[in-house]
Amino acid sequence: MYEGRTFTARREGYVTTLTAFAMDTYMTVSVRGIDSFEAAKAAGELIEEYDSLFSVSGSGSDIAAINSAAGEPVNISSETLRQITASIEVSGRSGGAFDITVEPLADAWGFSGGSEYRIPSDLEISQLLDKVDYSRIQISGNTLSIPDDMKISLGATAKGYTSDALVALFGSYRVDGAVISLGGNVQTFGTKKDGSEWIIAIQDPNDPERYTGTVSVSETAVVTSGNYQRYFESGGKRYGHIIDPATGYPVQNGLLSATVICHSGLLSDCLSTALFVLGEEGAKSYYETYGGFDMILITSDGRIIVTSGIAGSYTQEKNSPYILEVF
Ligand code: AMP
Ligand code: MG
Repeated sequence: MYEGRTFTARREGYVTTLTAFAMDTYMTVSVRGIDSFEAAKAAGELIEEYDSLFSVSGSGSDIAAINSAAGEPVNISSETLRQITASIEVSGRSGGAFDITVEPLADAWGFSGGSEYRIPSDLEISQLLDKVDYSRIQISGNTLSIPDDMKISLGATAKGYTSDALVALFGSYRVDGAVISLGGNVQTFGTKKDGSEWIIAIQDPNDPERYTGTVSVSETAVVTSGNYQRYFESGGKRYGHIIDPATGYPVQNGLLSATVICHSGLLSDCLSTALFVLGEEGAKSYYETYGGFDMILITSDGRIIVTSGIAGSYTQEKNSPYILEVF
């Protein structure tokens, strides 16, 4: 066993299990192979490093440096730059539904760092909406600047970027297979011991202790965004952590969760958040326009919509309350 600052690695034979709390979420990584222990330790250290680098606060964070630079250009790491570049592309493609500059609103609602949950006034929301605009992020080489009053966060991309990095890391060790689970982000590496496909459960957003079905996949990312992952309730209404940049309010559009399955963890992470904001019709049209991924949408009226590319790999639970639709 090995204990880092924020993680623990436990070996049993050829399998090492890494557990960590980082990026505001519980993480579990199961690694199989001759080097599983060394690989899991290195994974824990990389998670710690990225936790500091991508956090909205702290002296070692690129994001804190950008947000406190008062409009001046800041030198940032290639890791941060990759996420911001991917984010801006998805922002453009989603008509601004995905926007990492939504941070001042996330903060006002109490979803950022240590602040309390609250419902901001309409005036406050409309004032904060003026600070949301991804097109005002300026990148030149490896420096970046945002206008003085704006703020960004990588809450929607950091876990996906990190799981891609862990897959790359495991490639340099004698590791045969691994399952990386970082909050709602799952990513697989290599193969299972018996050579069969990985089975990934899709949570029931109405009852997150249960799952509504499973997908069997080879090496890929399976990333879910939903209001059930982080929210508060007030006056019988639920307010979730994903904010619609068009209104400044937590998304409330009839979707309970959006899962994206594609090779890149980073892209899956951007897309699951974006599709959740876009809603059922918007997500379907994004899928038809750009493709390159599969998705599973769960709606509040009791449907589970699975794209045709993975419909054959999806197995619905016997007691699932949802009606299956293939798109
Ligand atoms: P995820 O769990 O990947 O869906 O990301 C949700 C996190 O991304 C939130 O906790 C916020 O930090 C941030 N966020 C909220 N709304 C948006 C949005 N519309 N676009 C980009 N990031 C967002
Ligand atoms: Mg995301």
